[in-house]
Amino acid sequence: MSKKATKYIFVVGGVMSGVGKGVAAASIGKILQSRGMKVTALKIDPYVNVDAGTMNPTEHGEVFVLDDGTECDQDMGNYERFLDRDLSRTNYMTTGSIYLSLIQKERNLEFKGRCVEVVPDVPLEVLHRVDKAVEKSNADIAIIEIGGTAGEYQNILFLEAARILKVKNPKDVLLVLVSHILTLGAGGNELKTKPTQYAAHTLNSAGLQADMILSRASVPIDEKRKEKLAFVCGLASKEDVISAPNVKNIYQVPVNFENDGIADRIFKKLEITPRKRDMKEWRAMVNKMNNAVKPVRIGVVGKYFNTGEFVLEDSYISVLESIKHAAGYLNLSPKIEWLDSSVYEKNPASLKELKKYDGIIVPGGFGSRGIEGKIKTAEYCRKNKIPYFGLCYGMQIAVIEYARNVLGLKDAHTAEIDGKTKHPVIDIMPEQKKNLKEKNYGATMRLGAYPANLKAGSIAGKAYGVSSISERHRHRYEVNPEYVERIEKGGLNFSGRSPNGRLMEIAELPKSAHPFYLGTQFHPELKSRPLHPHPLFKEFLKAASARKHK
Ligand code: GLN
Repeated sequence: MSKKATKYIFVVGGVMSGVGKGVAAASIGKILQSRGMKVTALKIDPYVNVDAGTMNPTEHGEVFVLDDGTECDQDMGNYERFLDRDLSRTNYMTTGSIYLSLIQKERNLEFKGRCVEVVPDVPLEVLHRVDKAVEKSNADIAIIEIGGTAGEYQNILFLEAARILKVKNPKDVLLVLVSHILTLGAGGNELKTKPTQYAAHTLNSAGLQADMILSRASVPIDEKRKEKLAFVCGLASKEDVISAPNVKNIYQVPVNFENDGIADRIFKKLEITPRKRDMKEWRAMVNKMNNAVKPVRIGVVGKYFNTGEFVLEDSYISVLESIKHAAGYLNLSPKIEWLDSSVYEKNPASLKELKKYDGIIVPGGFGSRGIEGKIKTAEYCRKNKIPYFGLCYGMQIAVIEYARNVLGLKDAHTAEIDGKTKHPVIDIMPEQKKNLKEKNYGATMRLGAYPANLKAGSIAGKAYGVSSISERHRHRYEVNPEYVERIEKGGLNFSGRSPNGRLMEIAELPKSAHPFYLGTQFHPELKSRPLHPHPLFKEFLKAASARKHK
């Protein structure tokens, strides 16, 4: 591995999925960073998919996008938000991507005729990637989250990578088990540690010994059970069991871990002398969020949360977090509701419920389901002066609505839904058409960070306070340049454009016409951080909190 004595913390889940490994890994990173360490974070996903771009958000949650265009797991978003750093392709891998590069190397004769084997070549490829990420960020500590749960067939090769590294550098590698502690009893407060004991033993059978256990439960774990877990699972001390009770605000987690002494334990085990610093700024941000009382009601009109049984907020996790960041900054307490756009399609009378909200967000999306409901939503917000913020598809929808109802282009549409429309106000750029025809879908997406110039004096220009920006994209279609002049003449301004002026990045109505009606072709939610809320989310929430209900 790299020359400097880099330290590695592997985070693995026990008992079941969904215990919050990503937030736990990000929180550990935050704490170490706050003690002056340079931290990077990696995620290994067990899927055969080469990246997360092909996964359905209703099943897998939001697809997060990095500056370099990598489509990855939403946990990468947590890392970026907690560490306040931009990560890159080297920080994300899947079973598919690892096999793909191994096979490519083999085809390129890089193995010089030797037999390539699952073990050790797959774990070694994993470690090679970890090494690259560390080098790129010059990190003192790498946090590596292994997807899945201990005991699964799928992540065994990743555990093997951790084992190999630990055998080679026992003092530099730490294994943290994030495990669910069951609760039983009438009050639901009796903690049961047995499943976690099994999880720790499962790690033993993979040749690994957990160094610390994060006890995920609805309540804090008591001393007696800490002792029991430490003893049965072979930890050095009961202080290696860290309490991780449920929280209302995920940004509270690093504060809780720090209060439970996690940093000192990690430093001791990895023999690191911390540089002095603290989490003052972070704690202040969390307090501000927790203490905000003035409510602001935001409706998010989408389609990826309705699983039929429950609301899956994970599909729009970055949108949700961005609202929280900006709200905290403005001392507002956000009340977010998920609204299914297809309801407005079937029953337009129900649109009037939108009046209850201080602001409406139409987030990103693909395909035709619910789109007419979203267009009606945009129309209703425009006419009733309800603050409207369109993210990607939400911007395209605002443009379609404007073309139809203000410019009178009745069949205006996006070519994504209606390839034969007379007025494709949203269309694929000519240079992309060939790729689409050849079903080379991956190549047709505009992915990752692109620059844009802002119009001075516009709402966006004032909100950002700069004249050029860089924002992340994930879409195939664009505002059709042939309609730009007509739309602007009609009153909807394109206040952000690509440097060559061909691509429309932001559409907005002037303040004189509407308190806030703005859409972005990019995804601002991918760059909002709790310590640096996104300027457009702040502007939207300011307008929302100023809304007077009649
Ligand atoms: N479906 C639209 C496009 O491909 C918008 C994508 C999105 O919202 N991410 O252009």
